[in-house]
Amino acid sequence: MTNEWDAVIIGGGVAGLSAAQMLGRSRRRTLVIDGGQPRNRFAAHMHGVLGHDGRDPGELLETGRAEARAYGVEIVAGAVTSLTEDGDVMRIRRSDGTIETARAVVIATGIRDELPDVPGLEGEWGRTVLHCPYCHGWEVAGKRLGVLATSPASAHQIQLVRQLSEDVTAFTAAAEPLEEDEVTRFTARGIRLVSSPVSEVRHTEDGLVVVTRDGDSHVVDALFTGGTPTLELDFAADLNLARTDMPGGPLAVDMLGATSHPRVFAAGNVTSPFGNVPISMGAGSMAGAGVNAMLVAEDFRRAVAERTALRNAGWEERYAEKDRFWSGRVNAAVAAIVADLAPGTALDIGSGEGGDVVWLAEHGWRATGIDVSATAVRRAAEFAATRGVDARFVVADGAASVEGEFDLVLASFLHSWEPDFPRIGILREAAERVAPNGHLLVVSHAAPPSWVHELPEHMPPMRSPEAELALLNLDTARWRPEIVEIRRREATTPDGAPAHLDDGVLLLRRVE
Ligand SMILES: Cc1cc2nc3c(=O)[nH]c(=O)nc-3n(C[C@H](O)[C@H](O)[C@H](O)COP(=O)(O)OP(=O)(O)OC[C@H]3O[C@@H](n4cnc5c(N)ncnc54)[C@H](O)[C@@H]3O)c2cc1C
Repeated sequence: MTNEWDAVIIGGGVAGLSAAQMLGRSRRRTLVIDGGQPRNRFAAHMHGVLGHDGRDPGELLETGRAEARAYGVEIVAGAVTSLTEDGDVMRIRRSDGTIETARAVVIATGIRDELPDVPGLEGEWGRTVLHCPYCHGWEVAGKRLGVLATSPASAHQIQLVRQLSEDVTAFTAAAEPLEEDEVTRFTARGIRLVSSPVSEVRHTEDGLVVVTRDGDSHVVDALFTGGTPTLELDFAADLNLARTDMPGGPLAVDMLGATSHPRVFAAGNVTSPFGNVPISMGAGSMAGAGVNAMLVAEDFRRAVAERTALRNAGWEERYAEKDRFWSGRVNAAVAAIVADLAPGTALDIGSGEGGDVVWLAEHGWRATGIDVSATAVRRAAEFAATRGVDARFVVADGAASVEGEFDLVLASFLHSWEPDFPRIGILREAAERVAPNGHLLVVSHAAPPSWVHELPEHMPPMRSPEAELALLNLDTARWRPEIVEIRRREATTPDGAPAHLDDGVLLLRRVE
């Protein structure tokens, strides 16, 4: 069975649910898959979480799930066993074999705290064995406190705990040998240093008894220790997500929670093992917004691509409905201007039935024509063959779809009936294909034919060459305008009366 989602969130702790809330509120079809093992499940109360001080962490998650569900988010219990890429979607396999597909994924699986291997420690985790002075320090302030070092970095924790009580014993075996200045500083603040390794901890009525290998016993009311953060990300191994070099190798993300994979975001302890609940919530919230922003951008890109495909299909229909659409003759302004240029390579954007390209080839240019209509391209190639010239024609959408630079890039009457025809963007892309010292030549209708007094509403505007030049906004250090003018030519109205057409001519030279 396969389901399709906008976003699947792996892990329903505070980070995952915060991402879910943002996505649900953004009307994204969102699924949370949660293993139900939040990191702080060992603690009955949480602190340092504004507005929720002292609350049961499980209760906060229950509220979070209800809030996310109110915005249409679905939440299921289960474990994700694999996350892979499948074209434009991510494929998520659950342990029961169900496969979900999603346009984006948020990994919010948190970390597992690998505790020092000391008998009795694990059972007291979250009760009398504590990981964080900010989360649980106030509650034991002024009491008999211990710190079990796990590495030289524990020196920081020892100092923080001293802020909470004057009665501090540091079990330093894992941090030995201590730096001389550390011993000086700890001793100056009255911290007792015990270098013999801890062999066991035992909960008694009098407190937590910490037994050391030398046979001594030390009684404390609470023992602080940092577990080694462990990330369980085997399910995502195929994606080879970038990690940071912090302890545990958390996932590397940017400010929006984006990982090295474009469809995968991450938040919470899996990206910052030292983050607490509010930090994880904030990061989750940001990742939810990051996913939505990515999907919004993709929705617009897809809409434009669909619209462009429709427009291109429209051109194909137009060409296909008649044996010949245009005259096949070169435009007078094109012929006059190109006659003054030294022949080289040329690219004609929107080459239609090939009139201009064949003329260029006949005048010594190695010419390529591109057009979105396969019928136009076929006719252009046949036309070149009947004229016995060597010219290349390609079905392509815009200059970006062909390789290389050209001495002349030509856009001749590149108009469309669509109001959102991206003419300026197409011309900018065309400019990118001009070789140093080469020319961009744009010839177009600068005004409607003299017998048309009002353009149909849906037509894009016909502009003066000056206006187009301003809109193109090319780097003036790289481009020199050589011709910016309107050339008038004789024409005949549909009724056979004499009239005129105004051709806008823009010839720009790339100067470096
Ligand atoms: C004992 C203890 C007490 C703490 N007390 C506090 C405190 O008082 N205040 C405070 O601010 N912070 C506290 N913290 C820190 C807090 O727990 C974390 O900051 C917070 O839980 C991180 O949230 P998270 O959403 O990133 O991860 P988690 O809360 O750990 O949630 C991760 C979720 O992902 C699920 N998951 C993992 N792998 C998968 C998978 N493959 N498929 C599906 N689901 C998966 C897990 O089951 C879990 O439900 C405490 C930590 C500990 C260890």
